[in-house]
Amino acid sequence: MDALLSVNGLRKSYGPVEVLKGIDFNVAKGEKIVLIGPSGSGKSTCLRCVNFLEKPSAGEVYLDGERIGARGGRSMNDRQLAPQRAEMGMVFQLFNLWPHLSVTENVAIAARKVRGLSVAEARELAAEMLAKVHMTHRADASPLELSGGQQQRVAIARALAQKPKLMLFDEPTSALDPELVHEVLNVMEELATEGRTMLIVTHEIAFARDIADRVLFLDGGVIVESGTARDVILASLGVRLTSITAAILGLGFIGAAITCTIFRSGFSSIPRGQAEAALAAGLTPSQMIDSILTPQAMRIALPGLGNYAVQLLKDTSVVSAIAAPEIMFFARSMVTSSFQTTLIYTTAAVLYLALSLPLIQATRFLEMRYGRLNV
Ligand code: ADP
Ligand code: MG
Repeated sequence: MDALLSVNGLRKSYGPVEVLKGIDFNVAKGEKIVLIGPSGSGKSTCLRCVNFLEKPSAGEVYLDGERIGARGGRSMNDRQLAPQRAEMGMVFQLFNLWPHLSVTENVAIAARKVRGLSVAEARELAAEMLAKVHMTHRADASPLELSGGQQQRVAIARALAQKPKLMLFDEPTSALDPELVHEVLNVMEELATEGRTMLIVTHEIAFARDIADRVLFLDGGVIVESGTARDVILASLGVRLTSITAAILGLGFIGAAITCTIFRSGFSSIPRGQAEAALAAGLTPSQMIDSILTPQAMRIALPGLGNYAVQLLKDTSVVSAIAAPEIMFFARSMVTSSFQTTLIYTTAAVLYLALSLPLIQATRFLEMRYGRLNV
């Protein structure tokens, strides 16, 4: 896949301190990349080097095949950089709206100055962008009259009005009161579903998980992890799991919770009088649990458990992760390379049965064992 943004060997030093120590990544068109990492790890610097608000000490940035910030081996000044920067919309942590302009003017001004649109055209564009961020109702307000969430949404509209190829977000919700975070994240999610290319620095982990095609974890000026949100977020917490281990763990927790619930409902549905009658008959508490309560609870719980086990087999992560899809995928790739359809699919089906039968047998056994009275 061709990269829309390509960052190669990016380095940045402030005096003797090297903040970025060689950053490489690509962003494909339409991709949503989230950059996470501890404070001071260089996330903002990285983002600001992409549009040359900071001049990298070394490395190259390409947008749509065009080298940013350098031409013919010479670095470009701000005037030369302006058209390149206009291709990237940037959203800052502290909004940075221009307080002397109205909301509409904030969104329209670059279109007037940079792209030479008429006043009417620029206002129309602004109206369209403000609608996208659900801020039409405050089009004539001053930024100073707006809440943080509203200001940030206007800032997003301002960046969108550039018709950028790439959107850069630097912790767009970090400066907001918690109750205002979601309105900005919602707008960003809407942009994501429009297929925009987005490079986002954020600490909103759930948002990253939902939106990111890939997450990069930056630490000490290098990308130390890159991958799915799940893998990188766990790795950033110091947890490193393979998919299978994570699936087994996840399933273990869910399974334990469901099993507990099923058993608890089994036990709690036994009338109190049952226990009293057992005690009155002279059984010890452990005999009572063993002979009276557990068998009854099992009878109530087992159908649920059995269903649960079969359900697991059919569609939950671990069993399907290690059984059906894997086997079928393997079978399919063998079929396409050898064309021995019948043999291979039969083998796959046998393998699947071999994995699932013991589980079904085990639940049968339990149902039998507790299904009859052992007096
Ligand atoms: P992050 O966004 O991940 O919190 P930054 O990119 O803002 O990190 O900063 C990375 C490091 O670079 C920090 O140690 C910060 O102090 C330093 N730094 C950032 N900007 C400058 C600057 N203009 N001059 C000197 N040091 C800077
Ligand atoms: Mg930062």
